[in-house]
Amino acid sequence: MTYFPDLSACDYFGSIDIPLVAIGWLENGRPVPTGEVPEQVFEQLRELLRDPWGPVPFGWHDCDLCVYRYGRSKLGTFRNTMGSKNVFVPGDAKIYVAPELILHYIDQHGYAPPAEFRQAVLDCPTMRSVPYLQAILNLGLTHKTLLPTQPDSENARCS
Ligand SMILES: [Zn+2]
Repeated sequence: MTYFPDLSACDYFGSIDIPLVAIGWLENGRPVPTGEVPEQVFEQLRELLRDPWGPVPFGWHDCDLCVYRYGRSKLGTFRNTMGSKNVFVPGDAKIYVAPELILHYIDQHGYAPPAEFRQAVLDCPTMRSVPYLQAILNLGLTHKTLLPTQPDSENARCS
């Protein structure tokens, strides 16, 4: 999976003129911020990720942190812990983008996203509601602005 440090600019969707900020783009061998995540935040994040707004998913993410616990997958490149969706959460003059796997990272790896993101999750309007769409539109985000870069074959195979 592609790695971005938390709160760094996320160019996963190409060079776009929108303040997209990465949250939870973890990778084995990189530091993983850990800590307590209030259940309310987790549940709200789960709700947002049920059917998140966004471009049609391209490419898969899988969890390569699980190697710590369970060893390399014996099923080839595909493991149970994978996802393809992303969630966009409007913030203060920025939009956070987190992969679906963030739920797994919190649940299984003790990952704790930054406080400002946790607050944005709690403040986020109902997914796909008019206030939600208005909030991301106000920050410049539409389907048209998210033209995914073609994943190279390495990434497409989930490393
Ligand atoms: Zn994992």
